Amino acid sequence: MGVVMGNDEAIHIMGAGLSGLAAATVLAKGGKEVHVHDIRADSGARFDGDFQALENWSMGVDFFEQLKEWGFDLSEFKATEFNVVDLIHPDDVITQATTPGTAYRIIERGTSDHTIDQGFKRQALAAGVQIHYKSRVKEEDCTIIACGPKGTSAVAYGEIFHTDHPNHIGFQLNDKLAPGSYSYLIIIDGVGLICTCLWRKQKKSERFLNETIAWYEAHYPNLNRKPIKRVGGKGDFTINSNYKQDGRYYVGESGGLQDFMWGFGMRMAVWSGVLAANEILGKGDYEADVREHLMPYVRTSVANRWLMNRVGDRMFKRMCKAWMKDQKKRGDGLIWIGKLFRPTLLKSLLYRIVNPFMLEKDPKAHGRGVRRMPFRKALKRDVWEQSPEAVAIGEQWTEVRKQGAKLSFSKDTETDSEPQ
Ligand SMILES: Cc1cc2nc3c(=O)[nH]c(=O)nc-3n(C[C@H](O)[C@H](O)[C@H](O)COP(=O)(O)OP(=O)(O)OC[C@H]3O[C@@H](n4cnc5c(N)ncnc54)[C@H](O)[C@@H]3O)c2cc1C
Repeated sequence: MGVVMGNDEAIHIMGAGLSGLAAATVLAKGGKEVHVHDIRADSGARFDGDFQALENWSMGVDFFEQLKEWGFDLSEFKATEFNVVDLIHPDDVITQATTPGTAYRIIERGTSDHTIDQGFKRQALAAGVQIHYKSRVKEEDCTIIACGPKGTSAVAYGEIFHTDHPNHIGFQLNDKLAPGSYSYLIIIDGVGLICTCLWRKQKKSERFLNETIAWYEAHYPNLNRKPIKRVGGKGDFTINSNYKQDGRYYVGESGGLQDFMWGFGMRMAVWSGVLAANEILGKGDYEADVREHLMPYVRTSVANRWLMNRVGDRMFKRMCKAWMKDQKKRGDGLIWIGKLFRPTLLKSLLYRIVNPFMLEKDPKAHGRGVRRMPFRKALKRDVWEQSPEAVAIGEQWTEVRKQGAKLSFSKDTETDSEPQ
């Protein structure tokens, strides 16, 4: 691995993703010798070209203001701001959710220069961090564990394509195309992504992506889609008894710090990395800070997920209508969605009632008391035949793949959740 472990002064971090690099940068700026180890060949390789959204509604403070406060340079990666999204109801009605402010910023994950992963990597290197790629280290030799998901609670699959359609975002609540979850369309500067999320485990899951693409092609006829590659991966949603154990800090997805309802995790990944670094620099108490700043949102999202697991398209439709009604009244669509994510007494009570039987104990968690949201079983309604359009899209992908297009999630998901 090329470094000497066990040096008291040096801090070793497992994982050069967002949480690991954020922690490393703050530590190196604080004067520490920092080594980050990643099993992959580069930061962002887990995602490889995927668009993701930095949501800006859940916490009342603009995430970019937080990043600036923590000392990160926002010009190091490309972020495209949006204040409108097509809200696609389960009955195919399309309305617009809008806000006078910034609803979210789309960034790219991966190994290209303009991705957030490479932007964070450059800042870590500039601060003096030493990054060791293709480096396998033991958990007990590291101070910060930032290696992303371990188990699978949900998966997302998407196709990236060339398009001449202008920049656009669509967010669709549809229990058939995205079981228990949502699908989305993101177009940034001539590159599009259509993705579907599966919060119920499926066989032959590629049909969900094919059918979703067919849906978008039918409703956005000017996409002129030319497939480039397919991407995706798993999400790991856990609640831990301890976020610091035996002197080690569990940050980002390794600590289960994500939104259980819809899978937003980047903000908590960076934030938890910064909090861990702060404690090491003598400026905080990681366990207490995670519980104060992040856990109320995580617990709210567990309650939200429990509710989502109990509903289908009829309730999704009611949600869309309530969202639009609230937007009309207040002139800002961000208020309704923000409220959904914010902690309340009722959600806190619901969390206490549902979490004991909703989450399953992870026996391999070395006493950290990890309880994971299991990947739910498929329902009867998840079995359906693909439309002829979706079959054609699947055949098109087979052809494109034969010509060398990449499928970047095959190693990252459980065998029986992979598209077949
Ligand atoms: C398809 C998909 C779409 C998503 N979309 C969004 C979105 O739109 N918005 C949002 O906020 N969140 C989104 N998320 C969640 C978000 O990507 C994660 O919450 C976030 O990346 C977690 O950051 P992290 O630092 O914990 O892990 P990562 O950024 O994934 O970094 C983990 C790193 O650890 C490395 N690693 C793994 N195992 C080891 C090991 N044994 N030793 C050393 N290194 C290791 C990996 O190679 C990786 O580089 C999405 C997730 C998926 C799968």
